[in-house]
Amino acid sequence: MIAVAIDGPAGAGKSTIARRAAAALGFIYVDTGALYRTVALFMLRSGVDLADAEKVTQALHGVNVDVCYAEDGQHVLLNGEDVSTQIRTPEVSMSASVVSAIPAVRRFLFDLQLSLAHKNNVVMDGRDIGTVVLPWAQVKIFLTASPEERARRRFEELQAKGESVSYEQVLEDVRRRDDQDANRAVAPLKPAEDAVLLDTTGFELEDSIAALLEIVHTRLEEEKEP
Ligand code: C5P
Repeated sequence: MIAVAIDGPAGAGKSTIARRAAAALGFIYVDTGALYRTVALFMLRSGVDLADAEKVTQALHGVNVDVCYAEDGQHVLLNGEDVSTQIRTPEVSMSASVVSAIPAVRRFLFDLQLSLAHKNNVVMDGRDIGTVVLPWAQVKIFLTASPEERARRRFEELQAKGESVSYEQVLEDVRRRDDQDANRAVAPLKPAEDAVLLDTTGFELEDSIAALLEIVHTRLEEEKEP
């Protein structure tokens, strides 16, 4: 199987770029952030105190997360219910960042991620795919952009969905999540040693996709060489 691991901070355009790259390659796109969001949604709905790692760990017994693939891409199922839309709120974003720092949550989602990559050629995006989940991935890319640019993209996305937020609030959320993701003890956000760095600040979407696909093709050619 071939795996393309894409890691990077929130709002770097990972999901859009990874989805399009996967379609171009004929691979499935696995959005692992959606899995953490699904766990977070469950905890919010159940009123579990997210700051209490032990309570969250206990509550995982009541959670079943699965994914399925439809024409419009990946859907996530929480105990059988399709929650693909419900996980896209700022509240769930922030909560996902909190629960993802809990080791038991990462262990809980590890097998699902691995089994998807064992059964399919994948483009998988997240925070620790190249470093922890798929260290054997043939291609590892660390995708980033400046905090301001990432906030601007996120802000436009939320506005398009009719969410009423300010740019300043989104920028603050981006910075806070960067900080949480980079400084946590378990699987902190950092590039794998053999990852190729791709900074998309100032890039149009199509340029980012083309740049990423070029890295993939180059790496796969190198793999073939004896
Ligand atoms: O990528 P997305 O914004 O959907 O991810 C939501 C949160 O889930 C991130 O802020 C991050 O804390 C966490 N996450 C993670 N590991 C991954 C994917 C996401 O810790 N592989």
